[in-house]
Amino acid sequence: MTRITIKIGSNVLTREDGSLDVTRMSALVDQIAFLRKNNIEVILVSSGAVASGRSELHLHKTMSDVSERQLYSAVGQAKLINRYYELFRDHKIAVGQVLTMKENFNRSDHFQTQQNCMMVMLENNVIPIVNENDTVSVTELMFTDNDELAGLVTEMMNSEMLIILSNIDGIFNGDPSDGNAQLIPVVKSTDDISNFIQKKKSSAGRGGMHTKTTIAQQLASKGIKVMIANGKRENILVDLIQNAANTPHTEFVV
Ligand code: GLU
Repeated sequence: MTRITIKIGSNVLTREDGSLDVTRMSALVDQIAFLRKNNIEVILVSSGAVASGRSELHLHKTMSDVSERQLYSAVGQAKLINRYYELFRDHKIAVGQVLTMKENFNRSDHFQTQQNCMMVMLENNVIPIVNENDTVSVTELMFTDNDELAGLVTEMMNSEMLIILSNIDGIFNGDPSDGNAQLIPVVKSTDDISNFIQKKKSSAGRGGMHTKTTIAQQLASKGIKVMIANGKRENILVDLIQNAANTPHTEFVV
């Protein structure tokens, strides 16, 4: 059985008005269910807690960024996991929530507990859905973003591959909004692609291309394949697995 980690970014899961895009979620869940039927074990790292909490609440008073993030993530994570739970249930697949913090990867006892938790879930056919515990993870010890978290989970769980779904097809050799820029299909772990990386941050989440490519090249150098692709494309996960050559994406290799 192949084991892969899939990271879904906030921009994939939210509509332009910031609300949770349940149609998109449902399509991605259908694809993950298909992969499972084809003997691929999946660990899901999903963002979207803060974004979906933000669209749920309409605050009338201002508060600090930290309080706002705590409030939104507390509400949004409940909403998010609930949706996943129901959508996977339609496929008779059980899911479980794993909320974590960066320090859990630095302390060996925490690391092992966490690893054991996810192993036992997989052994019992439960898909782990991982996110940062944004309610209490508020200091400089936070993950840079969920791409960093996904990279750590990939290694911890010995996944053979990490797929990062964003709202862009991959790495372009120029500004992706400029019609002349072209998608780079393959990046080696030793390639210098800093000139191609847009400094822009995600509009809905914390991430950006910089961490994505740094994590991707780190994993690739250890022999773990990484693909960055557009989670808003129809059937993207199944196409990446079955017909990668004809599916827009950037692949990171040794
Ligand atoms: N953990 C954050 C959330 O679920 C996302 C962090 C990120 O954007 O990478 O909202």
